Amino acid sequence: MPRLVVVSNRVADPRKTAAGGLAVALGEALASSGGLWFGWSGHVVAAGDGSDAAPKLHRAGPVTLATLDLPQADHDAYYLGYANGVLWPVFHNRLDLAELDRSDLDGYRRVNRLFAQRLAALLRPDDLVWIHDYHLIPLATELRALGCQQRMGFFLHIPLPPPLVMAAIPQHEWLMRSLFAYDLIGFQSETDVAHFARYVHNEARAEQRENDVFEAFGRSVRARAVPIGIDVDEFQRLGQGREAQDMLATLHRQYAQRQLLVGVDRLDYSKGLPQRLRAFRRLLQDHPENRGKAVLVQVAAPSREGVTAYADLRAELESLSGAINSEYGELDWMPVRYMHRAVARMRLPGLYRAARVALVTPLRDGMNLVAKEYVAAQDPVDPGVLVLSRFAGAAEQMRDALLVNPYDTQAVAEATQRALNMPLDERQARHALLLAGIREFDVHWWHRHFIDNLSDASA
Ligand code: UDP
Repeated sequence: MPRLVVVSNRVADPRKTAAGGLAVALGEALASSGGLWFGWSGHVVAAGDGSDAAPKLHRAGPVTLATLDLPQADHDAYYLGYANGVLWPVFHNRLDLAELDRSDLDGYRRVNRLFAQRLAALLRPDDLVWIHDYHLIPLATELRALGCQQRMGFFLHIPLPPPLVMAAIPQHEWLMRSLFAYDLIGFQSETDVAHFARYVHNEARAEQRENDVFEAFGRSVRARAVPIGIDVDEFQRLGQGREAQDMLATLHRQYAQRQLLVGVDRLDYSKGLPQRLRAFRRLLQDHPENRGKAVLVQVAAPSREGVTAYADLRAELESLSGAINSEYGELDWMPVRYMHRAVARMRLPGLYRAARVALVTPLRDGMNLVAKEYVAAQDPVDPGVLVLSRFAGAAEQMRDALLVNPYDTQAVAEATQRALNMPLDERQARHALLLAGIREFDVHWWHRHFIDNLSDASA
């Protein structure tokens, strides 16, 4: 079996529960091949201060972690600048927030080149190299320029936008051409694959040779949907743990007379948080029987605080939740509990299980794992209801959720009302179908399927 080499912006120790299901799953894939996980250490250093050193190697059981520090200026241009100031907003259809005239491209290329130089020295000829996400799109091109011939796969965790949106990035051709240095590209959804196919057809006059093989720029690449899942068993085990059980008991006690709704997100403009709060206000306005009863717990975990758009969003959410509470709140009932704080992963299953309804209403999302975690955490005998944005990648797989258009305030309010009043037999039936789906296409399926396809991919 060839050795697997995973490359991602951040590297996590797969043995730590706090690292999350993805780290655990990648750790599992790496462990079975005695693999290597390469990425940024999370540390920034002053220029020349060790950033030109070889990667630091750590053993984590059978897996080797190799990490690099980054100079402050490179980190700012690569991570805050190009990856999160340009690629993230454009790929999520937010051209209005993209800082397209910033000159961070050089930093993005520099860091990708640095990754390539340091990684190339560690690669063996028959390694399988699996590169993750928008931070590292040109990495295979840089590795190939250094003579690396290994099979290389790329997985895009975020959505790929339609060609006309993509074309707003001044370097869009360069980015898309970079993808052709891979042997396999995995996307989250069929919609993303369709956007890729249309882009290469319209902009690069590519030939689609077989179903999922595209030829352009003198190379061929396979592109297919390999939607990411969660580790359902691991998440359900977390739900049996003390932290989750304590959380559940506390919420049951505190909200015995209420109906709890939950939203759990990073504080990000792609998540549709102001729209969600407005829909909840609309619910209270149009269906007054929910007043004094429904409570929306919205967790907004701090994220990318160095990027301007995030500070504006934070202020908007604080003011909106305050306005709803002052308009509708009573001495003994606050409709919105908004927290700008992360909830520890160990406690999340308890929060999900206490909630009769989950509002997962991003304006655009590659997948959205919270939707899957909510389903995994439910009691099958008395499950809650998932209200899910049709613009999340998860919507392609989770057709038995209540699918909504998150821009349509009234429609989300009505779907929420329906969720709050859904009869038990319908809740059970929908939950059983959703659970079967996330079990079949779980995170183990995801990495096996990707690696099998990469092993077979003929360049
Ligand atoms: N998460 C968490 N604590 C929080 C908020 C989120 O542990 O306070 C986790 C959540 O359980 C999920 C992940 O962060 O596993 C978020 O993944 P998702 O795909 O929903 O969105 P992303 O943040 O990757 O855009």
